[in-house]
Amino acid sequence: MAVYSRNILSRLQCLLQHQGSRNIASLSQLPETHQMLQKTCRDFAEAELRPLAAKFDTEHLYPKEQIRKMGDLGLMAMDVPESLGGTGLDYLAYAIAMEEISRGCASAGVIMSVNNSLYLGPILKFGTDKQKEQFIKPFTEGERVGCFALSEPGNGSDAGAASTVAHLIKDNWTLNGTKAWITNGYEAEATVVFATTDKAKKHKGISAFLVPKPIEGLSLGKKEDKLGIRGSSTCSLIFEDCEIPKENLLGEPGMGFKIAMMTLDAGRIGIASQALGIAQASVDCAVEYASKRNAFGSPIIKLQAIQTKIADMALRLESARLLTWRAAVLKDSNKPFTKEAAMAKLAASEAATFAAHQCIQVLGGMGYVSDMPAERHYRDARITEIYEGTSEIQRLVIANNIIKEYGLN
Ligand SMILES: Cc1cc2nc3c(=O)[nH]c(=O)nc-3n(C[C@H](O)[C@H](O)[C@H](O)COP(=O)(O)OP(=O)(O)OC[C@H]3O[C@@H](n4cnc5c(N)ncnc54)[C@H](O)[C@@H]3O)c2cc1C
Repeated sequence: MAVYSRNILSRLQCLLQHQGSRNIASLSQLPETHQMLQKTCRDFAEAELRPLAAKFDTEHLYPKEQIRKMGDLGLMAMDVPESLGGTGLDYLAYAIAMEEISRGCASAGVIMSVNNSLYLGPILKFGTDKQKEQFIKPFTEGERVGCFALSEPGNGSDAGAASTVAHLIKDNWTLNGTKAWITNGYEAEATVVFATTDKAKKHKGISAFLVPKPIEGLSLGKKEDKLGIRGSSTCSLIFEDCEIPKENLLGEPGMGFKIAMMTLDAGRIGIASQALGIAQASVDCAVEYASKRNAFGSPIIKLQAIQTKIADMALRLESARLLTWRAAVLKDSNKPFTKEAAMAKLAASEAATFAAHQCIQVLGGMGYVSDMPAERHYRDARITEIYEGTSEIQRLVIANNIIKEYGLN
């Protein structure tokens, strides 16, 4: 396993620091450091994830051992500084690694994405030193994962309408309410939770909290039986007089909605990359199959009808990849990237559903059965258009930003 050692990623980090910032125009040719990372992750996914992805899917199995190995590789806390146990790479590196991991197994991809962007991300940005010690350091190695609890049974897109409440009583916050659809909900040993602390202020009255798991007053709902990404768990978190110390407030009271939205901006780069991985796996599958399957005396890849499909799949995939890398580079340069992250997620998730759909068509009957991965890619792709903001919400985010750019808001 020497090729997968964490040292490689640490070396990449040193190289990266000496390389200076990247510009968007150079994205068609990745820096050498990122190419090395891409190869490391690709080799790992090919050897450790792709052969088992169907088993994780059919048995609804959390890939515990593989996530631990991804932790060894430094993939579970990619932009967390080394002083906190992370790998200290940039978001472009994260996007590249997420794509390669998801190309091998989309479930491993979402587990990695939630831990990196949705759980560690907001704590790194808004946490105190003490919170970082307790809630970041133990979650960098893949042994332990965290989760992010924003959605509720009564509101998903309308996240500002949180009905979960938190009251400060003496030195403790008491949480009551139910969070729905929480990825990593079963395995997570801590969660970032959003709750209303001042109802009159509507979304400006939402605060963010850090809750260790298990803890008295927090129970789990049933594991959701999902269409895809079945190797990752999804469940509700039920808070009933769950008490946490006063100092577990993340940021200031009333900052929760802002923390959630900033976290999702970054998270969308992760989900866009997951979608790219699923789209790439669909292209791989279609090309491999079409080059071996014969019809009317030659491999079907020689048929122009099949070539057109492959061209359209690759076109959408590669356009979405450039959008995703652009959003990551903007984030790395501390420039605004909300619109670009929404564009990336929208384009990549639609590219993934399109590519997976076409892949089934290229495989014909074999596309429809679980002997081949095409039908799994099709099921896995679908969620990327729903979580971390549906495609409809991405279009609203993009349009609102464009309206602002025209000075019309
Ligand atoms: C497998 C899975 C994992 C998830 N993981 C997490 C997680 O880890 N943490 C977490 O907090 N949440 C998670 N979610 C929740 C997810 O983010 C929400 O499902 C998503 O935001 C949509 O919310 P909703 O399901 O309540 O749909 P709704 O908000 O009820 O939307 C229903 C439909 O109405 C449309 N719609 C709503 N508002 C508008 C609008 N203003 N304009 C146009 N159309 C609109 C939507 O686009 C959608 O088509 C997960 C969901 C799933 C299925």
